[in-house]
Amino acid sequence: MAFKTLDTNEQLAACKALINGAACDGSSGEMLEVVCPSDGKPFATIPRCTGADVGRAVTAARQAYEAQSWAKLTAAERGRILLGLSNLIAENQDNLAAIESRDTGKPLTQGRADVAAAIRYFEFYGGAADKISGETLPVADGYLAMTLREPHGVVGAVIPWNYPTQIFSRVAGAALAMGNALVIKPAEHACLSVLRVAELAHEAGLPKGILNVVTGFGDEVGAALAHHPGIDFITFTGSPQVGTTIQAAAARNHIGCTLELGGKSPQILFEDADLDKALPTVRNAIIQNGGQTCSAGSRVLVQETIYEEVVERLRNKFRALVAGPHDQDLDIGPLINAAQARRVAAFCERAKNERIPLIAEGTIAPDTPEAGFYTTPKLFGPVPMTSSLAQEEIFGPVLAVIPFKDEEEAIRIANDTPYGLVAGVWTRDGARAIRVARRVRSGQVFINAYGAGGGVELPFGGVKKSGHGREKGFEALREFSVLKTVIINHG
Ligand code: ADP
Repeated sequence: MAFKTLDTNEQLAACKALINGAACDGSSGEMLEVVCPSDGKPFATIPRCTGADVGRAVTAARQAYEAQSWAKLTAAERGRILLGLSNLIAENQDNLAAIESRDTGKPLTQGRADVAAAIRYFEFYGGAADKISGETLPVADGYLAMTLREPHGVVGAVIPWNYPTQIFSRVAGAALAMGNALVIKPAEHACLSVLRVAELAHEAGLPKGILNVVTGFGDEVGAALAHHPGIDFITFTGSPQVGTTIQAAAARNHIGCTLELGGKSPQILFEDADLDKALPTVRNAIIQNGGQTCSAGSRVLVQETIYEEVVERLRNKFRALVAGPHDQDLDIGPLINAAQARRVAAFCERAKNERIPLIAEGTIAPDTPEAGFYTTPKLFGPVPMTSSLAQEEIFGPVLAVIPFKDEEEAIRIANDTPYGLVAGVWTRDGARAIRVARRVRSGQVFINAYGAGGGVELPFGGVKKSGHGREKGFEALREFSVLKTVIINHG
């Protein structure tokens, strides 16, 4: 297939979609260029699939599912194939990391970390496949009642460009472990690692038709998948705007969906926080992947009594940050594309017009290709809660510093955005840490930590505009399954 030997220095490698176990072009015959964000140059092409290709993929998934080629395997057998895939990804880690970095612009170290997370997802879900079960229920005398946990059937997945390998693996790991068939629509801006891992899945023994990948535009292929009456469940990770359309389509077909839609996650620094531990984490939580991370810690709430000290120390850290091409492996790479770079610049411009002080700014490495999509990491503060810097997901390396007086105000500010994905609480006062953790409205709360290395085991998802449903951990196995209740009269 097209990818096995993709050399990341090759010119315009022609990649294929994957339908019914075969590499294929889209029915339009058109190809889309894949641009490297580091230099703005195309280095590969992907098929521009259409609604017809989505139809073929859903039919293939349905037939494979109905033929029981996957679900009829024992859970342990499915698990073994996923573990085999985990091993194959590990064997190909260098190549996959190079593909991921070139495709997304992320520094190589981040590319390797992402592939390590993919290895871990298939290891976790391979091991979990035979450890999830139903229950027996107390019921009237003479009856036995039980629940069976069954796959949905055909699951559709629309995933974004910021962590293609990771997000693909968290969805595919859990959905396949439960016995579903899948049709995945990765982002047109970055999908090469997804195609490669899907190919490895077939090498690992996945039956054909169980995992299909259709490439192309969101409003064409993604929308066709979301609206397709042949899917039984859909999962989406991306912007709230598109998430709304996905949920509306799911409603029309009366199917369930999970949405993971980003955040404006706060890290709360109380005056008794261990700043030596907190500040490097605060910095990393916003510069990781150039801030293009749903769970980015994009607001830091700082108690007034330590505000000056925190600002001073963060100023030094931000000034030292350098952006550059993915293969130079600096603090951050470029943003994904020109549109994203313009969007981030517009937020900073608005902040300037609102006279929000720019505390510090990093630099761009010398000799960085001019056509790349670079931005410097920026630290703004004090940022008023009414400004877009405090309210909107920027998806860039821009951190808003916001002062607060006391615990009550910290909680109010933390909850005062439309989002609720992740929060961090930094304090040496254990009771306060727990009080705040319980009152912050978000899907995850870290205490004296943030991020925890990807957290494959940890249920992840949001409240409010951050979405609903949970990915990761055992919770994802529940999302990708339905309960059937069976009642037996044994007289
Ligand atoms: P971002 O703004 O970060 O690119 P999007 O929500 O636009 O986030 O994209 C996330 C995923 O959703 C991508 O795979 C994209 O192609 C897809 N997508 C975009 N528009 C639509 C749509 N109208 N219907 C379905 N999927 C879409």
